[in-house]
Amino acid sequence: MTALPPGSTIGILGGGQLGRMLAVAAAQLGYRCHIYAPAGDNVAFDVAAHSSIGAYDDHAALKDFAQQCDVVTFEFENVPVAPLETIAGLVPIYPPAKALEVAQDRDAEKRFVRSLGGQTANFAIANIQGDVQAAVDAVGIPCILKTIRMGYDGKGQLRVTSQDDLADAWAQTGAQPLIAEAMVQFDAEFSVILVRGQDGEIRFWDSPHNVHVGGILATSTLPAGALVESQQQAARDMAAAVATKLDYVGVFTAEFFASSAGPLFNEIAPRVHNSGHWTIEGAATSQFENHIRAICGLPLGSTETVAARVEMQNLIGDDGDAFEQILADPAAHLHLYGKAQARPGRKIGHVTRLYR
Ligand code: AMP
Repeated sequence: MTALPPGSTIGILGGGQLGRMLAVAAAQLGYRCHIYAPAGDNVAFDVAAHSSIGAYDDHAALKDFAQQCDVVTFEFENVPVAPLETIAGLVPIYPPAKALEVAQDRDAEKRFVRSLGGQTANFAIANIQGDVQAAVDAVGIPCILKTIRMGYDGKGQLRVTSQDDLADAWAQTGAQPLIAEAMVQFDAEFSVILVRGQDGEIRFWDSPHNVHVGGILATSTLPAGALVESQQQAARDMAAAVATKLDYVGVFTAEFFASSAGPLFNEIAPRVHNSGHWTIEGAATSQFENHIRAICGLPLGSTETVAARVEMQNLIGDDGDAFEQILADPAAHLHLYGKAQARPGRKIGHVTRLYR
């Protein structure tokens, strides 16, 4: 493992808040970041040494970008895989494209996890409109219909609680292949956030208890409580098996339902994750810094939690207007992402409160 020396350039595909926080962590270690993203509200550009605007399928622009970088990573999991292969020969890419490929397809993801012995909700696939009824019948009502590809933050999802919900389901979810998932009766949701180094070493942060509202993460809290703690080890073993099988390098997140049957995999994220934002102040080394360390071949930092209680709350829509009130709380660490528009449902920042 040869470490990439500070002063080198890290390329990041994706210009959102995850790229922004990665670039800040990279700068602290003396690296320069070059962000590549399509035109839009690219809040990572504000904190990076270089930025390029380009489409994710513009092979020539991606090649030009890769030639200016010493290593490339991504913060956006819907980057198309094929163009990445164009640049893979020019510069190391971590995590591997295979991880993106699996995470982008809810069907492949669940089959991959099951092939390694992990448990998931029952599911069935509807590739065409005419298959939706059969897929729903296979898992039963209530269930959730989700687009197989390109879904995030509850987008492209429809909860089915009665047969009537199916009338318009195909159009409502964008007329594209769907997965029907049985509705899990979970007692809590939690995530395993781990970092895997180039030498295969894995370190875990403590698992937070995550609460979602309307399909969007609202809070992540530690300690996560007895139930989550009792399922954490089994979930860690599964997440580690998936990361190892993928020959993963960097931060990897797996979201779980804590159910009476044990931890059920919901989905994986081949990247730093919203439920790990608390690690910036709440852990000895943040998920962002350890991702940079891993992709640069540096020793991994301690993932130990440094406070008795940690609460991360997402700021959504106009929640950020209360910035002065938040800052008046001595326990609070405020992060605003610098987004131009605070649309309803849009994550514009987060606040982490530490209690010692
Ligand atoms: P996802 O985009 O798959 O992470 O779903 C967003 C949120 O919707 C999850 O964090 C859960 O709160 C809820 N959800 C998703 N799938 C299921 C399921 N099969 N059963 C119950 N709740 C679910």
